[in-house]
Amino acid sequence: MTLQPIRDIIIDVSMMITTKNIGGNDMANYSKVSVAKDARTELHDKLSLTGAEISINNLPAGASVPFVHAHKNNEEIYTILSGKGKVVIDGETVELTVGDWIRISPAAKRQFFAAEDDGISFICIQVKENSLEGYTGDDAIM
Ligand code: ZN
Repeated sequence: MTLQPIRDIIIDVSMMITTKNIGGNDMANYSKVSVAKDARTELHDKLSLTGAEISINNLPAGASVPFVHAHKNNEEIYTILSGKGKVVIDGETVELTVGDWIRISPAAKRQFFAAEDDGISFICIQVKENSLEGYTGDDAIM
């Protein structure tokens, strides 16, 4: 599978214990962090994100996020890094496996579950719906 090398790289990074925050002063043009394989890591504060929240989530086999939730303004984009599970969106079950990407509208009620026999690791990218004004070629300066 072509996604395997990318997944392996991401998982290797996620298992590093060391945390480095190079953007420790206001003059830095970038920030970097290495994420331990905790149940949940939120990057907004760690990387001083200004337009998104990104979380890395790890659920062991049989576990779930312990609540159903929706959002006021933010859509969420999820991708599965490893394992398998499902998300229930407004009562509809969507199976999830490595390489899947899914966008969920703010108002949708959602809850994530690991499979009974396999954990699941996923990234959630949270951004304000309809906020993107330019991207890729429109926003690039060459
Ligand atoms: Zn959410």
